[in-house]
Amino acid sequence: MKKQFAVIGLGRFGGSICRTLSDLGAEVLAIDVDEDRVNEFTSIATHAVIADSTDESVLKSLGLRNFDHVIVAIGDNIQASILTTLMLKELGVKKVTAKAQNDYHEKVLRKIGADHVIHPERDMGMRIARQITSSSVLDYLELSDKHSIIEVVAGRKMAGRSISDLDVRAKYGVNIVAIKGDGRISVSPRADQIIQRGDILILIGADEDIDRFKAQLLDND
Ligand code: ATP
Repeated sequence: MKKQFAVIGLGRFGGSICRTLSDLGAEVLAIDVDEDRVNEFTSIATHAVIADSTDESVLKSLGLRNFDHVIVAIGDNIQASILTTLMLKELGVKKVTAKAQNDYHEKVLRKIGADHVIHPERDMGMRIARQITSSSVLDYLELSDKHSIIEVVAGRKMAGRSISDLDVRAKYGVNIVAIKGDGRISVSPRADQIIQRGDILILIGADEDIDRFKAQLLDND
């Protein structure tokens, strides 16, 4: 059976999630108090309804407890975001992702049981800052407070060397998950694979280990 998603709050963030889920073929219930916003999504989402998510009877009558994943994308009205998240978890929704406006909002959302909290502006700011400080870092994804996945381009320091020769796991505590190059991708590459200049490496590890790896093995220009 297809997974059922609901998106509450159809601003730029919630709207974008709703559109993408629909493009991916998922079933999406789109909810907003604002009639104009809802009208925008009638032809995009599976269902679009005008409703106030802070009203518990509304959440019940929409059957939200049966949804696999509910995204609370209410922004400015922090009280409504918190109340909605709390009631969804009390109703027994398995997975609730909520958008936070600031660090205090994030703390409260986590305390009341949000399974995943997103802080889009802050998270994207961090990601961009990491990308632009080094021309060798193509992308960055935070896995937790201390762990990340990064995509880097191999330069002169790594070119022509094998993974075992570089010994990145023992020396830096970092794992090479995949190598892309020459139109091919090697997932979990073998230790004897030779890295070419311009290959793209996807690495996973603790932030401090990744920082050491970057300092030693990337061309820092
Ligand atoms: P974005 O940055 O994603 O555009 P935002 O931070 O500006 O969003 P808001 O515009 O405050 O956030 O909220 C997003 C949407 O949530 C709005 O369309 C708003 O009508 C809707 N919304 C606010 N409160 C409720 C509620 N209680 N029930 C349902 N929808 C709500």
